[in-house]
Amino acid sequence: MRGVVMHAPGDVEVVERPDPRLIAPTDAIIRVSATCICGSDLWPWRGADEVADPTPMGHEYVGVVEETGDDVATIKVGDFVVGSFFASDNTCEICQAGYQSRCAHAQLIGKEGTQAELARIPMADGTLVATPGRPGTELIPSLLAASDVLGTGWFGAVAAEAGPGKTVAVVGDGAVGLLAVLAARQRGAERVIAMSRHKGRQKLALDFGATDIVTERGDAGVAQVKDLTAGYGAHSVIEAVGTQESMMQAIRSTRPGGHVGYVGVSHGVELPGEELFFSGVHLHGGPAPVRRFLPELIRLICDGAIDPGKVFDLTLPLDQAAEGYRAMDQRRAIKVLLRP
Ligand SMILES: [Zn+2]
Repeated sequence: MRGVVMHAPGDVEVVERPDPRLIAPTDAIIRVSATCICGSDLWPWRGADEVADPTPMGHEYVGVVEETGDDVATIKVGDFVVGSFFASDNTCEICQAGYQSRCAHAQLIGKEGTQAELARIPMADGTLVATPGRPGTELIPSLLAASDVLGTGWFGAVAAEAGPGKTVAVVGDGAVGLLAVLAARQRGAERVIAMSRHKGRQKLALDFGATDIVTERGDAGVAQVKDLTAGYGAHSVIEAVGTQESMMQAIRSTRPGGHVGYVGVSHGVELPGEELFFSGVHLHGGPAPVRRFLPELIRLICDGAIDPGKVFDLTLPLDQAAEGYRAMDQRRAIKVLLRP
């Protein structure tokens, strides 16, 4: 099969890779209908993470089940499925509590590399959710978004306790931040402040339900959020970047007693204890347990209640993956969908 590998920072290529095979009896093999490039794929692309040559890339996917192991009971050949970037058994105590991304048996799907024609999905019954029937092609981008960026933005909103009567601020205007805006509104937030300095991204944030835009960042951004909230700060702040600056911007934009939901993959963040102590904010986050939310997100998408697929502003054939990485790195594209 063809699949994307990264050789070194800035160097991805579509190569022939061996077809995945069932390894455990709980595995499934899916034919990937659509996959995409994640903001987190840009960390190794930019040299912030180490790269072993060649590294299979990709952890977001929707597709059709081609083969199942003998112990797979609920997922069937021919099902159209959506799964998370962590495989999970969905039965251990951690999964049952709703934290499937930290499942006692969690496996990273990224090791399989779903920017490819086929993918092996471990613990298929626990990891995958089948859609009701075969979705129309117009729904595929939205279902693909549910696999990571929507599920992650959704968790950010849940962790920040975005809900009715709340003012929510979102730090980060990448795909996750934009979909966190959608999630916060869908969960009933009264006001959603999107922090972005890019016109195209501001427009999408407004489409997704943002009520206010703040263009400043750092302490100036914090001051604007305070101005918009009678000096208190937001009730809920979703951090969707993962840097020191964005994390501090999130904490400082939150009112005492408020909640920060942090879902940007943390890179070099160090929290000052004394400031944290006196901030009085709740911090909750981490790798999103997307699997918890998939049934609800699939239902909302299939019912037409939400259209998160709008976050994909560039679609390329898999063979042009390198151009997709460049477009996202240079911020010419918010999120790139790849068609195998
Ligand atoms: Zn588990």
